[in-house]
Amino acid sequence: MTVPERPTARAHREVAAVLREGDLAIDATAGNGHDTVFLAKLVGEAGEVIAFDVQEQAIVSTRERLAAEGLLDRVKLVHGSHGSIAKHAAAKSVAAVMFNLGYLPGGDHAVITRTEETLQALDGALEALRSGGLLTIVCYPGHEGGDQESAAVVAWAEQRGAEVFRRVDTLKPAPFLVLVRSVDILSTPCRQDVDTP
Ligand code: SAH
Repeated sequence: MTVPERPTARAHREVAAVLREGDLAIDATAGNGHDTVFLAKLVGEAGEVIAFDVQEQAIVSTRERLAAEGLLDRVKLVHGSHGSIAKHAAAKSVAAVMFNLGYLPGGDHAVITRTEETLQALDGALEALRSGGLLTIVCYPGHEGGDQESAAVVAWAEQRGAEVFRRVDTLKPAPFLVLVRSVDILSTPCRQDVDTP
């Protein structure tokens, strides 16, 4: 039997398909910095990443990881909530935003992302995305509060044309990935003036 792809790996694969050198990307939950490093490599020297986390410990460990890879100069670390995305990135300027919800592994399990704040941040993230941009959210339904948050994220995302990649064959609720693509309907060319043969 093949091992199913982890939601975080799938998120990376999907982001790699849209992100280009020189782009602006956001890691909304820096945590231990894995997604931040991943994004920083993809945007290249000409690009920029903004990474948010409310925990000092997460900012410190992300900074260390970036420094070890020589990537610090293309990343802005924000020690604060992802609720302030709009303050740091102009509307329609961002190519990809990644959320990894829940608590920081090895950190304080009491510091979790909170449903109301998460939904508000997702609104901000979607406004920041440019046309063709991608929003990825890894949800963790297995912990207290995580169930409710995951359900709220799915409901929010399904109103916005989400793709949800969720396993149904696990005994305990497993982490899963939600994708929302930003499509600018106004940029779709009007075809009415095209002659049909
Ligand atoms: N559950 C994942 C890791 C998630 S880390 C795993 O197991 O791999 C989630 C991070 O989000 C934590 O570091 C936490 O400090 C951060 N966080 C929580 N609320 C936040 C907020 N409002 N803004 C930015 N980061 C937040």
